Parts: sequence; C-alpha cells; structure tokens
Amino acid sequence: MSTPFWAPPPEKYPGRLPEKADVLIIGGGIAGTSLLWHLAARRIPAVLVERERIAWGASGRNAGFLLAGVASSYAEAVRLYGREKAREVWEITNENHDRMIEAARGQEVGHRRRGSAILPSGDEERARLVESEHLLQEDGFDARWDGARLVNPRDGEVDPAAMVAALARQARPGAILEGVGVTAVQPRSHDVLVTAGDVQCEAGVVILATNGYTSELVPSVKIQPTRAQMLATAPEPRDLVDMPVYSHYGYRYWRQLRTGEILIGGWRDTTPETEKTFEDEPTPEIQEHLERAARELGARGEITHRWAGTMGFTESGLPMGGPLEGMKGVYICAGFTGHGMAFAFMTAKKVAEMI
Ligand SMILES: Cc1cc2nc3c(=O)[nH]c(=O)nc-3n(C[C@H](O)[C@H](O)[C@H](O)COP(=O)(O)OP(=O)(O)OC[C@H]3O[C@@H](n4cnc5c(N)ncnc54)[C@H](O)[C@@H]3O)c2cc1C
Repeated sequence: MSTPFWAPPPEKYPGRLPEKADVLIIGGGIAGTSLLWHLAARRIPAVLVERERIAWGASGRNAGFLLAGVASSYAEAVRLYGREKAREVWEITNENHDRMIEAARGQEVGHRRRGSAILPSGDEERARLVESEHLLQEDGFDARWDGARLVNPRDGEVDPAAMVAALARQARPGAILEGVGVTAVQPRSHDVLVTAGDVQCEAGVVILATNGYTSELVPSVKIQPTRAQMLATAPEPRDLVDMPVYSHYGYRYWRQLRTGEILIGGWRDTTPETEKTFEDEPTPEIQEHLERAARELGARGEITHRWAGTMGFTESGLPMGGPLEGMKGVYICAGFTGHGMAFAFMTAKKVAEMI
C-alpha cells in the first residue's frame, strides 16, 4: 500500500462542480494551488476542482527538494537547450524557490536552505558535473565542485504537502472544491463545457493542472505518466546526510529531516519500463533497492512509510505552460518531469499572466 510520509493538509474543502466559472482549474497539487494564488493576486475569480483531496497527487508524495534546474546537469542542459535557455531555466527555478516560499507568508512549510549536492555515479557523470561547475560560475550561479560533489548552496527543501496547504489556506472561501472528478473538457464557440459525472459547468477558461494524469482527460497531450517511489525511516539519532543529495543523473535522491528521518527515493532506472504507468503502488523490486541504500547510508531504524506517486514527463524535459493547441479556452500548467516543486509556482505565474 502507498503510505506517503507527509501529513495531508488538515483542512477539507468538500464541493461540487459549479454551473458556471470564469476560470476553472482542474487539479489540486502545487500547480493548481499556485494558479489559484496567482489568479487571486490579479483579482481574477477562479475555482479549483480536485477529484480526491488537495495534495493527493505527486505534490503530497514527493521528496520536497527545491533544486535549481532540470534533471540534466547544467552542462547537459546547455547542450540540449542552448546556453541562453539553460541559464533562463536555472534562473526561473531559483526564482521559483524564493517566490514560492514568500507566498507561504510565514506559515510552517518545513523550509530549509542547506544547499544540495549532486553526487556522480561514475567518471562520465563526474566530468559533466565538473564542466557544469565552470559553466554555472561563468553564468553567475553559485555552485562549487568540492572534490566529490557539485554543491549548490542556494537550493533547499520543504514539506510539499504543507506547502500546498499553505497556498490553499489563502484562497477565498468556496474557491477549492474537493471530490470533483472531471470526466470531459469540450471547447465550444464561446466557452468550455466541463463535465464531472452528470454535472456540467460552462467555464470561460479551463486550466489543466493535472500533470501526470493529463492524458487521461485529454489524450492528445504528450505527458508520460511515470511512477516514482520512496521510503522513510524512523528518526535516526545521528546526522547521516548533511544536505539533500541527488545522484545517478537524478535517478536517486535522499535527505534527512530536521527530526532525523531519512527519506530516500528513485531507482526507477533499475526497471524503467515498469515505471511508465499510472499505477501508484510501490513495488518490491524498487523498495528493496531503496531499503538497501538507506542501510548503506547508516540508517538503522525501521522503515515507517513506503509510497509511490505519478510524475508527468514531457519529451523536452521542460514544463508546459500556456494555451493548449487546438483547444480554444483551454490552458495547461503541467509536465514538470519530476521537478514540479522547483517549477510549478513560476509556471503558474506565467499562465496566470496570460489569462
Ligand atoms: C516520489 C516522488 C518524488 C519527487 N520528488 C520531487 C522533488 O524532490 N522535487 C521536485 O521538484 N519534484 C519532485 N517530484 C515531482 C513533483 O512531485 C511533481 O512535479 C509535482 O508535485 C507536480 O505537481 P502538480 O500539481 O502538477 O501535479 P499533482 O500534484 O500530481 O496534482 C495533480 C492533481 O490533479 C488531480 N486530478 C487529476 N485528474 C483529475 C480530474 N480529471 N479531475 C479532477 N482532478 C484531477 C489529481 O488527483 C492530483 O491531485 C517527485 C515526484 C514523486 C512522485
């Protein structure tokens, strides 16, 4: 069974699909709640519908790393996207970190800024990280190779479910409606017809904040659902991990909380084909890798939580934020490719500015 470590937001927002909405957001994760926050800041009336509860999806199940950039190293990103675009992506994610934490307005979201370390899996990754250090410094970013790892001192970590809850708490009463599963989105000449079971809503604009689940609703959107798995240990009395660590080209990651628990995730690279799925149950194969790795870090306590979540991967590795081609009145804010905590707040800002 999937038992995420993070406590779900304590507030409940039961509701039903309204008959009309100026802006209707579908999905109550970090993307949906960020959209609601940015639209409210622009005095644009919006409602958010979520089929389960807010933070039920990947946003309540992730590792909570706030990293600069994408899964690829900076050197690789420069090769993939060009120097200017890579720099822009790193700047956006740095800004996402600062602005999202500011938006919590002092609520406790487990934020710490201890930096992050990227640990190479071998010679090839080491060479890319050393090259990345030079390129990052030339482009004005604070990053240093410490002889073993690429350390990014401005990165941080958060309790992702608490972050979603902190944004949701600022929404006007009635703006969040849980338990509303949208079954169809149909653009019409002057509005968008949204269906949830036997209820319909005429919406001026619809925003899909459904990340890994988007293709269930709009199959033409190319976002690949991808499972990621984690586990958590009981609190360790000793400090075993100095800062969030990311390794094996982003396939493996771990951190230790202030309260001592070790959270470790990834190892999707060991069975990549089985992880392209909407299934969000942990598997024995990957959990075994995670448990062994936790023990190698020195964790002795029992495993208290094992879980999995659904990420949404795009072909480019970059998020989708803007109007959806061929669907008038429908926007998308999704496809965070395993880095939604680092991208969603700023992607939502961009989409809110377009509306
Ligand atoms: C194990 C794991 C570890 C990760 N670690 C990190 C990390 O450390 N740092 C990082 O930046 N990112 C990480 N990620 C990725 C990050 O969690 C996601 O990119 C981010 O949470 C996506 O947020 P979202 O709001 O777009 O999607 P989600 O949080 O998945 O929210 C989408 C919501 O839409 C709802 N929904 C879907 N379809 C419908 C419908 N038809 N009607 C109504 N509601 C619907 C779902 O119920 C869901 O709540 C990790 C992901 C996982 C699974």
